[in-house]
Amino acid sequence: RAKSQGGNCWVYYDHDDDERRRTAQRLRGELERALKQKEFVLYWQPIINLHTGQCVAAEALIRWQHPERGLLLPASFMDIAENSPAMLRIGAWVIQEACRQGNQWAEQGFLLDIQINLSARQIENHRLCEELRSNLNMCPALLPERVCLELVERIALRDIGKTSRLIQDCQSLGVSFALDDFGTGPAALQYLLELGCNQIKIDHTFVIPMTRSQRHQDMVRAMIQMAHALGVSVTAEGIEDEITLQLLQTSGADRGQGYRIARPMPAQEMATYLGKQK
Ligand code: C2E
Ligand code: MG
Ligand code: MG
Ligand code: MG
Repeated sequence: RAKSQGGNCWVYYDHDDDERRRTAQRLRGELERALKQKEFVLYWQPIINLHTGQCVAAEALIRWQHPERGLLLPASFMDIAENSPAMLRIGAWVIQEACRQGNQWAEQGFLLDIQINLSARQIENHRLCEELRSNLNMCPALLPERVCLELVERIALRDIGKTSRLIQDCQSLGVSFALDDFGTGPAALQYLLELGCNQIKIDHTFVIPMTRSQRHQDMVRAMIQMAHALGVSVTAEGIEDEITLQLLQTSGADRGQGYRIARPMPAQEMATYLGKQK
């Protein structure tokens, strides 16, 4: 592939790939240590009610505070983690830490939903529901109704029946589900119909072009109408400017998330943000 671009090109690419492979391998070997040394942290991104402007939820977004490489974003290590047996423990840690933090905020009187991303491995883990239950038991101030699990389409693809049973089991605990990156997967509509999710999160690749593309505006509006017709609520991701925010408000989206509202931030800053809202 790179070769067809001719010349020295492929040497360069080859080197690059090699470098990337070595880095990936090194990082994979460091996941266990990272867990043990508590190098993972959760950042939080506010989600607002688009009608009132109030912060009504926060999404937990993992970061790796790497001792040599600095703060790593999920893009640089989650694919690696996903292919490693450590992923189950990382996922379990995310749930535990997100619930603990949500419980603390609830004790402090902050009313908000806690949104947690699930990985493919967690979906396939038959103990997910049990894990969730025991975490909720340890977090009495955090109502199960305030916990929302986010799931990307592609990871549920293998077995819709199994995934929808898992969703039902967890929903019977009180938690809800969101279909994340909605619109990017190969089976978006089927999922919407069959999975029994409570919420969709419209992917930023539909939201960001809205200001300059009527077609994207129309598409987003259609998604919102379709979701609402099925009793599913809508969060728009990737709101980067004021005009997009207004377009989404007039399109009837329920909730919004994006840099225009707030960037993901450490828990301490999030608490300050919530304090200002009160
Ligand atoms: P996601 O769940 O779709 O999360 C939203 C991503 O969009 C976040 O990237 C967030 O920082 C970014 N974002 C927020 N506002 C804007 C905006 O206005 N414009 C643009 N262009 N982007 C915005 P982040 O934190 O790098 O996370 C990337 C992905 O990694 C997440 O996408 C999620 O799929 C995954 N991820 C993050 N934390 C976890 C986790 O704890 N567990 C699992 N399994 N996956 C996670
Ligand atoms: Mg998400
Ligand atoms: Mg998303
Ligand atoms: Mg995404």
